[in-house]
Amino acid sequence: MNILSKIQIFDTTLRDGEQSPGVNLNKLEKLEIAKQLERFGVDRMEAGFPASSKGDFEAVKMIADTIKGTSVTGLARSVKSDIDAAWEALKGADEPCLHVFLATSPIHMTYKLKKSPDEVIDLAVNMVRYASEKFSQVQWSAEDASRSDLAFLAQIIERVIDAGATVINLPDTVGYATPDEYGKMFKYMKENVPNIDRAILSCHCHNDLGLAVANSISAVENGVKQIEGTINGIGERAGNASLEELAVAFQIRSDRYPYETNLKLSEIKRTSDLVSKLTGMQIQANKAIVGKNAFAHESGIHQDGVLKHAETYEIITPELIGLSSNVLFLGKHSGRHAFNDKVKEMGYELTDEKLKEAFEQFKLLTDRKKEVTDDDLFTILTEIQTDSSSVDKYELEMFQVQYGSNNIPTATVVLKTPEHTIIQEACTGSGSVEALYATLDKLISEELEVVDYQISSVGGGKDALAQSNVQLLVNGEQMNGRGSAQDVIEASANAFLNAVNRYVIQKQTNINNNSAITKRRIKRTE
Ligand SMILES: [Zn+2]
Repeated sequence: MNILSKIQIFDTTLRDGEQSPGVNLNKLEKLEIAKQLERFGVDRMEAGFPASSKGDFEAVKMIADTIKGTSVTGLARSVKSDIDAAWEALKGADEPCLHVFLATSPIHMTYKLKKSPDEVIDLAVNMVRYASEKFSQVQWSAEDASRSDLAFLAQIIERVIDAGATVINLPDTVGYATPDEYGKMFKYMKENVPNIDRAILSCHCHNDLGLAVANSISAVENGVKQIEGTINGIGERAGNASLEELAVAFQIRSDRYPYETNLKLSEIKRTSDLVSKLTGMQIQANKAIVGKNAFAHESGIHQDGVLKHAETYEIITPELIGLSSNVLFLGKHSGRHAFNDKVKEMGYELTDEKLKEAFEQFKLLTDRKKEVTDDDLFTILTEIQTDSSSVDKYELEMFQVQYGSNNIPTATVVLKTPEHTIIQEACTGSGSVEALYATLDKLISEELEVVDYQISSVGGGKDALAQSNVQLLVNGEQMNGRGSAQDVIEASANAFLNAVNRYVIQKQTNINNNSAITKRRIKRTE
């Protein structure tokens, strides 16, 4: 029997994943994802980049103060003020960890840092030493490691370990490495860095060539004990290594991969759904493990085979990842007690006030929809749990849209502004959503442009909830919004306002601090 070697999972959905274009999570949404990552069983989560903005700082602090079952870390550039900000955000964590990085490739050192290799070593050593005085764990990353000189990399790693680094992460920042090359880099460090046993080796792969998961596995086969990745593989550009793919690959091919993680595979579906919903990044249907079609057998020959014996064409069971068929659970006559039990069973911890609000929404839904499913409830509860109700924002007071095959679609909208005034407008358009969006655009003072608009249904059936995802440019900054409702037009209005409100709230939070645009700029890192 194989002796399984333990691999630590470092999740960076809330940092690298949040750098995906258009993703702007508020702190309640980040906290909800953090709680789910804890349930999923990640060993460490990177909650954000505290120095990048006040909003990020507050989110990291809230997560560090709340999450106790999983180690929480934050990112910092090799700058004292970044490390200080990270310490302020993370000092309430059970085990405050820092992730500090510096580029080591010739191209980055010459053109970006404008520093000589010796200057880079000195800076890295000084920053690791400075961070170790505060943090119990210091992870040092060599940005663009896969395009760095191996001998130089070995030299700087030895020095930062001596200075106190406990984890050495060697990212494939630009997604350029092949599995063979990437694995050999770690093997070289194991053989050429004298004090390498005093630190844990970590990998971090980007998916520009579609090799992120394969590269991560190659790293593990060459001595790496920590894998970094994200849920659904989201992240900069083509994204990061997808943690659910790695976890299931280790499980299904344990004959070839003698590794185990603390991940609870039955939480995969829910984690994936939550991240997709809150980030507004929909999962491609054919995505491995979590795509809508990952377990759908289309060909008649395959269907026939699966019916006779599932393993003829099915290597993973849907149950393994927690995919149960859209269970019907509560209806019109379900009482508050049954409802509360179900909420608890689904893992939500709502305040009494939010629980009351959720029950009211559930009751409203049962008036309009015969059978309320787990998917519906997940939508309602997530919306309530992540709603920043206490901040000033645009609120939809009333809307009306008239359209038909023979008349010009016309929308009338009444809005409450963040300044609490009531405003009203009417516009026409060539379609119902266009008329609605033209009216909202006229009412809202920010400069708006619709980049993308999608509508889908939650679960199945003709009375399914509608979910809309909208991507807007708000004063030139990309914002994703989402909204759900029984009706498609109402869901579309909610999604539009959700995107605008993200901008409004971000502006309020970051006032007297870095502007949101600066945040996006300096977030482009490792
Ligand atoms: Zn990255």
